[in-house]
Amino acid sequence: MSDGRVLGRVGRGRPPVAARMHIGGQWREAASGARLDCIDPTTEELLGTVPAGAAPVADAAVAAAQEASGAWRALGWTRRAALLRDLADAVGEVAEPLAVLDVLDSGNPIAGMRGDIESAVRELHYYAGLAGQTHGVSTPTGPDTVSFTKREPYGVVVRIVPFNHPFKFACGKAAAALAAGNAVIVKPGEQTSLSAVALAEVAEAVLPPGVLNVVTGTGAELGQALVSHPGAPRVAFTGSVATGRRIMVAAAQHFGHVTLELGGKNPLVICPDVDVRQAARSAVASMNVARSNGQSCGSTSRIYVHESIRAEFTDALVDRVREIRVGDPLDEANDVGPLAFEAHLQRVSGHITRAQASGATLATGGSRPGGTGRGYFIEPTVFTDVTDEMPIARDEVFGPVMSVLGWSDLDDVVRRANDTELGLTANVFTRDLRVAHRLADQLQAGYVYVNGTGRRPPGSPFGGWKHSGFGKENGPEELLSYTREKTVTVTLPAEDPDWATP
Ligand code: NAD
Repeated sequence: MSDGRVLGRVGRGRPPVAARMHIGGQWREAASGARLDCIDPTTEELLGTVPAGAAPVADAAVAAAQEASGAWRALGWTRRAALLRDLADAVGEVAEPLAVLDVLDSGNPIAGMRGDIESAVRELHYYAGLAGQTHGVSTPTGPDTVSFTKREPYGVVVRIVPFNHPFKFACGKAAAALAAGNAVIVKPGEQTSLSAVALAEVAEAVLPPGVLNVVTGTGAELGQALVSHPGAPRVAFTGSVATGRRIMVAAAQHFGHVTLELGGKNPLVICPDVDVRQAARSAVASMNVARSNGQSCGSTSRIYVHESIRAEFTDALVDRVREIRVGDPLDEANDVGPLAFEAHLQRVSGHITRAQASGATLATGGSRPGGTGRGYFIEPTVFTDVTDEMPIARDEVFGPVMSVLGWSDLDDVVRRANDTELGLTANVFTRDLRVAHRLADQLQAGYVYVNGTGRRPPGSPFGGWKHSGFGKENGPEELLSYTREKTVTVTLPAEDPDWATP
């Protein structure tokens, strides 16, 4: 009988694991016994199964988190910070098996997943360092009165994350809420849940029971039950725009405090003063191909290149894309692996078919790569002759698909770049600081990268504008977002009984 743990037990050619959820310090099944398959997208083989939790699991997880939250808060921030650092160390000790687990479950390349584990460790350390920075403010008063605010944790935080960076999101995105003194319920994407279960394994040796709960199941059942739960006053979500909208509606019923990190259709404006070959390499890097095969909210899938260098840039881009080695993501010789699951391959392939039907020219890619008989592989793809109205220039693909568009007037390209409902990142390549600042000012996005897409310094706030969501993560504001402010006014006992002010 399996004990529900997965770390070091998942592999190709090994018997499938039967993972469990971790709730209140216990390894639990869903009451229904229902399970979800975890498929290796490279081989299409079954790696294991996870419980398909639903409403009763949401109830149990909320109850466990509520029970644990008081003592976790009372521990005080210095002790909580020390435990988060211990957790960071414990994760670091099993970094390689965690990275391999994510490669097997998600198809992301091994180098990218090693980076993801490092990033999760950094986030734990970052928020451990900030844990005491939940200060309030004091208000000027007369000598008989003290008035101040304090920030208290919500108690229970629901953290719903998507499939694309499984461990990094399950772990790193719990860090701020834990540091602020909340018990957390993590629900990973149903297609890539295994490393979240591994997180629970690592955390059970470090954190008190119920402080970090990991539950598995579909969004429609378990996710919806969690975000609708009146015992979950704070919901933080990373995922698609459509789900974000559903979550706002559900949480509104109990006035849950929601933050949303949603999709992007991120423009990259390339100015004529750049080194063209370098720009082409950087444009591919900006797609996050090597990290997650373009399955990244920050991917720069709309490339606006100045007409004077458009032909040269397109040739260099196509050359660079053809150099990308697609194959088994566990093999370090390969740059990218498959997409994460079959339905997503169909989704991405559908975008490619529609792009061709609408008149875009397929400059490279678009098909299953040669030599890959199995697995959810798609070649990295470039479209040219793309116009602003085409679906491929407007819809988030969430895969390795780039569109090249031309521009000649700076004001006009700003208008076109902003002509989208989304506003996650905007990106500029230029050597001209005047242009850089002008575009950084005018582009409508929550994060603007100039000459270095994806290179985010630790602690720099990240979050979208418009339909890409609201609420900043990764910086101090995220820590504060897991607290609510209380104002306290203390007045000296008055001799005059009529002491209340109107
Ligand atoms: P998704 O919205 O389908 O699912 C995300 C998570 O939400 C999963 O855990 C899913 O089970 C859950 N979910 C689904 N329906 C739910 C519901 N009704 N109630 C509660 N939870 C529900 O997204 P996905 O396909 O897993 O991820 C891709 C999307 O995520 C893309 O749009 C991408 O841009 C976005 N994303 C954004 C960021 C960011 O930081 N802004 C980062 C990564 C991914």
